[in-house]
Amino acid sequence: MARVEITVAGLVPAPVAAVEVPGAPALNAKLQHLIPQRRDATSGLLAFSSGGRHSDRETVVWGGTPIAAVLDAAEGVATQLATDRTGKPERPVWTVPAWRTSMGEATRRLLVRHRLRHQRPGLSFRPLGFSFYLGIRCKRANARIRTRSRRLAGLMDTAGGNSEYDLAIIGGGVNGCGIARDAAGRGWRVFLCDQADLASGTSSASTKLIHGGLRYLEHYEFRLVHEALMEREVLWGIAPHIVWPLRFILPHHKKLRPAWLLRLGLYIYDHLGGRKHLSPTRSLRLQDGPSRSVLKPEFTRGFEYSDCWVEDSRLVVLNARDAAEHGATIAPRTACVSAERDNGTWWITLRDETTGGQRRIRAQALVNAAGPWVADVAGSVVRANLPAAVRLVQGSHVVVPRLYEHDSCYIFQNADERIFFLIPYERDFTLIGTTDLDFEGDPADVRASPAEIEYLCHSASAYLRKPVTPDMVVWTYSGVRPLVDDGSSAAQEATRDYVLKLDAPADGPALLSVFGGKITTYRRLAESALAQLQPHLPVVSGQAAGWTARAALPGGDFPMNGFDAQVAAALARYPFVAPSTLRRLVRAYGTDVHELLGDATCSANLGAVFGADLTEAELRYLVRWEWARSAEDVVWRRSKLGLRLSTDQIAGIDAAIRQMVPERLAVS
Ligand SMILES: Cc1cc2nc3c(=O)[nH]c(=O)nc-3n(C[C@H](O)[C@H](O)[C@H](O)COP(=O)(O)OP(=O)(O)OC[C@H]3O[C@@H](n4cnc5c(N)ncnc54)[C@H](O)[C@@H]3O)c2cc1C
Repeated sequence: MARVEITVAGLVPAPVAAVEVPGAPALNAKLQHLIPQRRDATSGLLAFSSGGRHSDRETVVWGGTPIAAVLDAAEGVATQLATDRTGKPERPVWTVPAWRTSMGEATRRLLVRHRLRHQRPGLSFRPLGFSFYLGIRCKRANARIRTRSRRLAGLMDTAGGNSEYDLAIIGGGVNGCGIARDAAGRGWRVFLCDQADLASGTSSASTKLIHGGLRYLEHYEFRLVHEALMEREVLWGIAPHIVWPLRFILPHHKKLRPAWLLRLGLYIYDHLGGRKHLSPTRSLRLQDGPSRSVLKPEFTRGFEYSDCWVEDSRLVVLNARDAAEHGATIAPRTACVSAERDNGTWWITLRDETTGGQRRIRAQALVNAAGPWVADVAGSVVRANLPAAVRLVQGSHVVVPRLYEHDSCYIFQNADERIFFLIPYERDFTLIGTTDLDFEGDPADVRASPAEIEYLCHSASAYLRKPVTPDMVVWTYSGVRPLVDDGSSAAQEATRDYVLKLDAPADGPALLSVFGGKITTYRRLAESALAQLQPHLPVVSGQAAGWTARAALPGGDFPMNGFDAQVAAALARYPFVAPSTLRRLVRAYGTDVHELLGDATCSANLGAVFGADLTEAELRYLVRWEWARSAEDVVWRRSKLGLRLSTDQIAGIDAAIRQMVPERLAVS
């Protein structure tokens, strides 16, 4: 067994990565031959060693060789070895896109600082006939042994045999992926599947606010509002690329809630949630500021307060990616078709929605995080009684060309006691939403009805100088809220709090079902879920509970007010990319923009442009690192470029992805 260890020389005493190749001859020589000698990079020194044991290792130091180059070379070796063994060219199959980061947080931060962490989110190959894996060397020997055995489990999984996990999660929305990230970081072996794309359910159809929910104060939901308010700055801190603060203008409507009540609510809102960085509430004379040209003249008085925006579907994908970097297996386009308790374990049958093939895995505990499908999964997959009643509530949004120039949002009250938002959206548009309607049917089929579109346009026009009409609408989207049925008469009054139901029979494995919740509270929901599941999971060594509040999501390793500096740095390195494109890319990928653009020195290096500013380089990145497999995944979830692309351009993207997937990445 030849072992190659990768060390950041002089900085981390222990190797940070290891590659093991059974029977590899003259591995070091091969790697030396394959790794380009580069002294221009900023990633620090890499010491590279190989040999059967530490004692007889040879060390070669390349100044400034990026770890990506080392890992590329490792992949080259794997290909070559597979070819040697089988006699025909074999590319290693990428299986688990995950760094195995059960190492200490200090090392992890160091990797982030040196931009090594996302260069290769985990290598796990299984070329025919033998296994090859890269795992982060753990601080503790027992953890190291465990990491290796987990890798092997992952390899069995991709090979189509049975695999063993501590925790299996049904549903790749924000709640499923949030639980997966937390659990994987805590050291459990995690499997997550989604029947479609990640975030293809409710988690890409929200209003995209990280907010306490001013309106929930009226329902005395102080626990929910407090927890949600606290999360605003936590999420902004761990993902400052996809989360940012917004100011909301709340006009006083003389026929609706009195001004003193609004002020009181905002006072509580300001003081309930540990606000440190967000600006406080202030009163406004609406006809003296930028709102004068937007609002009808009768709206003279109002208030302005803070909440945050989040790119909802990107939040989901980044949680999934971080889970994978901590060793989780993420399986989009994989439906869970049945789950049975047998002999103290879950036997879970999965169907690959691309090939139709089925396989089984085992898990010690199961989470039903199927969002609006939670009842279907309980009934037809787990075949258990539904532990809580669910109320499905449809909400729709419309997108129109930008209605006003300034950056603040509006929160308007309606005569039906509902509130709705106008939010500057994707630079050139305004988002208006939402509605609350009881829903029946398959949540995958939810669409904005003409009546909802009319309702939103009509409601906005009641406040705006220039009316909004349905013919201005360029796009709509809808989602289904999976709420706990608390017996409220009106859909908008049903609680937005989450409820977790644990079913843990003495002689059987545990099942946790997730009801309700908000994007805002997904991280706290994950912590509560794991607190309930912990007694039913094996004892492992990993991060302590609460770690997700401090660790940056991929690309989010920069200060919460550092976005402009990131854009400036990207502009300095890639002056040939349009500033508006770089802004968009830094918003989407944060510091990983450097991974995406790599060593490009001119536009031609980024490959074909598919329309808007989507390049081949970005598409490749999304296919390779974010499980994108169709144009829809790219233009409506990983980005919102669909707003700027024609049907033909979107078809071109689909064709390009179809070529890329088998070419470079056989399996997700
Ligand atoms: C209109 C609207 C506006 C909202 N606005 C906000 C907001 O501004 N702020 C906020 O904090 N919250 C908001 N929310 C709430 C928030 O969006 C949801 O609470 C959250 O997205 C629910 O996430 P989830 O993971 O539970 O469900 P989902 O995102 O729906 O994920 C469930 C997943 O399970 C998968 N699945 C189902 N069955 C199976 C199976 N058998 N096998 C495998 N996979 C399966 C589905 O494909 C789906 O992807 C809003 C919701 C709506 C509808």
